[in-house]
Amino acid sequence: MLRRLLSFVAPPRCIVCGAAIDSPSQLLCLPCLGALPRAMLHRMPSNPVRDILDNAVAPPLLTAAWMNYRHDSPYAHIVRKAKYSSRPSLSRYAARLFATELAADSPEFADIDVLLPVPMHWRKNLGRGFNQAEFVAKGIADVGRSAVADNLIAVRPHATQTHRSRSERLQNLSGTMKLIAPHELEGLNIAIVDDVITTGATLTECVAAISAAARPASISAISLAIR
Ligand SMILES: [Zn+2]
Repeated sequence: MLRRLLSFVAPPRCIVCGAAIDSPSQLLCLPCLGALPRAMLHRMPSNPVRDILDNAVAPPLLTAAWMNYRHDSPYAHIVRKAKYSSRPSLSRYAARLFATELAADSPEFADIDVLLPVPMHWRKNLGRGFNQAEFVAKGIADVGRSAVADNLIAVRPHATQTHRSRSERLQNLSGTMKLIAPHELEGLNIAIVDDVITTGATLTECVAAISAAARPASISAISLAIR
Protein backbone atom coordinates (compact mmCIF):
# COMPACT_ATOMS: atom_id res chain seq x y z
CA MET A 1 0.00 0.00 0.00
CA LEU A 2 2.72 2.40 1.07
CA ARG A 3 4.79 1.48 -1.98
CA ARG A 4 1.81 2.14 -4.27
CA LEU A 5 1.21 5.46 -2.61
CA LEU A 6 4.88 6.38 -2.92
CA SER A 7 5.03 5.38 -6.58
CA PHE A 8 2.06 7.67 -7.18
CA VAL A 9 3.81 10.60 -5.50
CA ALA A 10 7.28 9.83 -6.91
CA PRO A 11 7.16 7.21 -9.66
CA PRO A 12 10.42 5.24 -10.09
CA ARG A 13 12.66 6.68 -12.79
CA CYS A 14 15.42 5.27 -14.99
CA ILE A 15 18.68 6.18 -13.28
CA VAL A 16 20.29 7.03 -16.62
CA CYS A 17 17.70 9.03 -18.61
CA GLY A 18 14.95 9.71 -16.09
CA ALA A 19 12.14 7.94 -18.01
CA ALA A 20 9.41 6.34 -15.90
CA ILE A 21 9.96 2.65 -15.07
CA ASP A 22 7.62 0.12 -13.45
CA SER A 23 9.66 -0.65 -10.36
CA PRO A 24 12.77 0.79 -8.70
CA SER A 25 14.44 -2.63 -8.90
CA GLN A 26 14.44 -2.33 -12.71
CA LEU A 27 16.85 0.60 -12.25
CA LEU A 28 17.06 1.31 -16.00
CA CYS A 29 14.53 1.68 -18.79
CA LEU A 30 14.84 -0.93 -21.54
CA PRO A 31 16.57 1.33 -24.12
CA CYS A 32 19.19 2.41 -21.52
CA LEU A 33 19.70 -1.19 -20.39
CA GLY A 34 20.22 -2.18 -24.03
CA ALA A 35 22.72 0.62 -24.66
CA LEU A 36 24.71 0.04 -21.45
CA PRO A 37 28.45 0.25 -22.27
CA ARG A 38 29.11 -3.38 -21.32
CA ALA A 39 32.70 -4.26 -20.51
CA MET A 40 32.35 -7.99 -21.37
CA LEU A 41 35.57 -8.82 -19.49
CA HIS A 42 34.39 -12.39 -18.96
CA ARG A 43 34.69 -13.05 -22.69
CA MET A 44 38.27 -11.75 -22.93
CA PRO A 45 40.92 -14.41 -22.41
CA SER A 46 43.31 -11.71 -21.27
CA ASN A 47 42.40 -8.45 -19.56
CA PRO A 48 43.92 -6.15 -16.90
CA VAL A 49 41.89 -7.72 -14.07
CA ARG A 50 43.01 -11.20 -15.02
CA ASP A 51 46.63 -9.96 -15.01
CA ILE A 52 46.24 -9.02 -11.34
CA LEU A 53 44.62 -12.34 -10.46
CA ASP A 54 47.43 -14.22 -12.19
CA ASN A 55 49.64 -13.24 -9.24
CA ALA A 56 47.31 -14.92 -6.76
CA VAL A 57 47.80 -18.17 -4.89
CA ALA A 58 45.05 -19.84 -6.96
CA PRO A 59 44.12 -19.50 -10.64
CA PRO A 60 41.36 -17.12 -11.76
CA LEU A 61 38.02 -18.64 -12.71
CA LEU A 62 36.08 -15.56 -13.81
CA THR A 63 36.84 -11.88 -14.34
CA ALA A 64 33.73 -9.83 -14.86
CA ALA A 65 32.68 -6.18 -14.90
CA TRP A 66 29.27 -4.97 -16.01
CA MET A 67 30.19 -1.67 -17.64
CA ASN A 68 33.00 0.61 -18.67
CA TYR A 69 32.95 3.57 -16.30
CA ARG A 70 33.23 7.08 -17.68
CA HIS A 71 32.96 9.96 -15.29
CA ASP A 72 31.01 12.16 -17.72
CA SER A 73 28.57 9.44 -18.83
CA PRO A 74 25.03 9.35 -17.39
CA TYR A 75 25.68 5.64 -16.72
CA ALA A 76 28.11 6.76 -13.99
CA HIS A 77 24.98 7.53 -11.92
CA ILE A 78 24.62 3.79 -11.33
CA VAL A 79 27.77 3.83 -9.23
CA ARG A 80 27.85 7.41 -8.00
CA LYS A 81 24.27 7.75 -6.78
CA ALA A 82 24.62 4.56 -4.75
CA LYS A 83 27.77 5.80 -3.09
CA TYR A 84 27.22 9.51 -2.61
CA SER A 85 23.43 9.80 -2.35
CA SER A 86 23.23 7.12 0.33
CA ARG A 87 21.19 4.77 -1.84
CA PRO A 88 23.09 1.49 -1.52
CA SER A 89 20.07 -0.49 -2.70
CA LEU A 90 20.90 0.85 -6.19
CA SER A 91 24.11 -1.20 -6.11
CA ARG A 92 22.13 -4.28 -5.22
CA TYR A 93 19.59 -3.71 -8.03
CA ALA A 94 22.42 -3.13 -10.53
CA ALA A 95 24.32 -6.20 -9.37
CA ARG A 96 21.18 -8.30 -9.73
CA LEU A 97 20.74 -7.18 -13.35
CA PHE A 98 24.42 -7.82 -14.04
CA ALA A 99 24.43 -11.25 -12.39
CA THR A 100 21.37 -12.28 -14.37
CA GLU A 101 23.25 -11.49 -17.60
CA LEU A 102 26.39 -13.18 -16.32
CA ALA A 103 24.55 -16.33 -15.30
CA ALA A 104 23.23 -16.63 -18.86
CA ASP A 105 26.55 -15.86 -20.56
CA SER A 106 29.27 -17.36 -18.35
CA PRO A 107 29.29 -21.04 -17.32
CA GLU A 108 31.89 -20.19 -14.64
CA PHE A 109 29.44 -17.97 -12.77
CA ALA A 110 27.54 -20.96 -11.36
CA ASP A 111 30.75 -22.38 -9.88
CA ILE A 112 31.45 -19.40 -7.59
CA ASP A 113 30.95 -20.47 -3.96
CA VAL A 114 31.80 -17.41 -1.92
CA LEU A 115 31.64 -13.65 -2.55
CA LEU A 116 34.06 -11.48 -0.58
CA PRO A 117 33.16 -7.78 -0.76
CA VAL A 118 36.14 -5.42 -0.73
CA PRO A 119 36.13 -4.33 2.90
CA MET A 120 35.83 -0.80 4.17
CA HIS A 121 37.52 0.26 7.38
CA TRP A 122 34.96 0.69 10.18
CA ARG A 123 35.88 4.35 10.59
CA LYS A 124 34.97 5.12 6.97
CA ASN A 125 31.92 2.87 7.24
CA LEU A 126 30.82 4.92 10.23
CA GLY A 127 30.94 8.04 8.07
CA ARG A 128 29.10 6.63 5.06
CA GLY A 129 26.92 4.18 6.93
CA PHE A 130 27.33 1.32 4.46
CA ASN A 131 29.86 -0.48 2.29
CA GLN A 132 28.61 -0.40 -1.33
CA ALA A 133 30.72 -3.46 -2.25
CA GLU A 134 28.65 -5.44 0.23
CA PHE A 135 25.46 -4.43 -1.55
CA VAL A 136 26.96 -5.43 -4.92
CA ALA A 137 27.80 -8.84 -3.43
CA LYS A 138 24.27 -9.20 -2.06
CA GLY A 139 22.81 -8.47 -5.49
CA ILE A 140 25.02 -11.16 -7.05
CA ALA A 141 24.04 -13.63 -4.34
CA ASP A 142 20.36 -12.89 -5.07
CA VAL A 143 20.86 -14.48 -8.50
CA GLY A 144 23.41 -17.25 -8.10
CA ARG A 145 23.97 -19.94 -5.48
CA SER A 146 26.97 -18.14 -3.96
CA ALA A 147 27.02 -16.74 -0.44
CA VAL A 148 28.39 -13.43 0.84
CA ALA A 149 31.14 -13.83 3.44
CA ASP A 150 32.99 -11.31 5.60
CA ASN A 151 36.38 -13.02 5.86
CA LEU A 152 38.14 -10.12 4.17
CA ILE A 153 38.51 -7.21 6.58
CA ALA A 154 40.17 -3.79 6.59
CA VAL A 155 42.56 -3.74 9.53
CA ARG A 156 43.62 -0.14 9.25
CA PRO A 157 42.35 2.93 7.42
CA HIS A 158 44.23 4.43 4.49
CA ALA A 159 44.50 7.97 3.14
CA THR A 160 42.40 8.89 0.09
CA GLN A 161 43.39 7.23 -3.19
CA THR A 162 42.27 10.15 -5.33
CA HIS A 163 45.04 11.83 -7.35
CA ARG A 164 47.53 9.03 -6.68
CA SER A 165 49.33 6.96 -9.27
CA ARG A 166 48.93 3.18 -9.31
CA SER A 167 52.23 2.59 -7.49
CA GLU A 168 51.37 5.27 -4.90
CA ARG A 169 47.98 3.63 -4.39
CA LEU A 170 49.57 0.24 -3.89
CA GLN A 171 51.94 1.66 -1.30
CA ASN A 172 49.10 3.50 0.42
CA LEU A 173 47.05 0.29 0.67
CA SER A 174 49.82 -2.09 1.63
CA GLY A 175 48.94 -4.04 4.76
CA THR A 176 45.46 -2.52 5.12
CA MET A 177 43.59 -5.80 4.55
CA LYS A 178 43.53 -9.16 6.24
CA LEU A 179 41.78 -12.47 5.82
CA ILE A 180 40.18 -13.94 8.93
CA ALA A 181 39.19 -17.61 9.40
CA PRO A 182 41.05 -18.54 6.18
CA HIS A 183 40.29 -22.28 6.65
CA GLU A 184 36.65 -21.50 5.77
CA LEU A 185 37.72 -20.74 2.19
CA GLU A 186 39.86 -23.84 1.72
CA GLY A 187 39.18 -25.46 -1.64
CA LEU A 188 36.37 -23.05 -2.57
CA ASN A 189 35.88 -20.87 -5.63
CA ILE A 190 35.95 -17.38 -4.20
CA ALA A 191 35.28 -14.02 -5.85
CA ILE A 192 36.40 -10.57 -4.74
CA VAL A 193 33.55 -8.12 -5.30
CA ASP A 194 33.73 -4.33 -5.69
CA ASP A 195 31.65 -1.53 -7.18
CA VAL A 196 34.37 0.00 -9.38
CA ILE A 197 37.83 -1.22 -10.33
CA THR A 198 39.99 1.81 -11.09
CA THR A 199 43.72 1.10 -11.11
CA GLY A 200 43.35 -2.35 -9.61
CA ALA A 201 45.39 -1.37 -6.53
CA THR A 202 42.58 -2.37 -4.15
CA LEU A 203 42.12 -5.68 -5.94
CA THR A 204 45.88 -6.31 -5.80
CA GLU A 205 45.85 -5.73 -2.04
CA CYS A 206 42.88 -8.10 -1.59
CA VAL A 207 44.63 -10.77 -3.65
CA ALA A 208 47.76 -10.37 -1.51
CA ALA A 209 45.78 -10.68 1.76
CA ILE A 210 44.00 -13.81 0.52
CA SER A 211 47.14 -15.40 -0.94
CA ALA A 212 49.04 -14.88 2.32
CA ALA A 213 46.52 -16.87 4.33
CA ALA A 214 44.28 -19.21 2.34
CA ARG A 215 44.34 -21.91 -0.32
CA PRO A 216 41.07 -21.53 -2.24
CA ALA A 217 40.47 -23.46 -5.47
CA SER A 218 40.25 -20.26 -7.51
CA ILE A 219 40.05 -16.49 -7.09
CA SER A 220 37.72 -14.44 -9.31
CA ALA A 221 36.94 -10.73 -9.47
CA ILE A 222 33.51 -9.24 -10.14
CA SER A 223 32.74 -5.53 -10.21
CA LEU A 224 29.90 -3.35 -11.44
CA ALA A 225 32.23 -1.08 -13.36
CA ILE A 226 35.78 -0.80 -14.60
CA ARG A 227 37.55 2.43 -15.46
ZN1 LIG B 1 16.62 5.28 -19.49
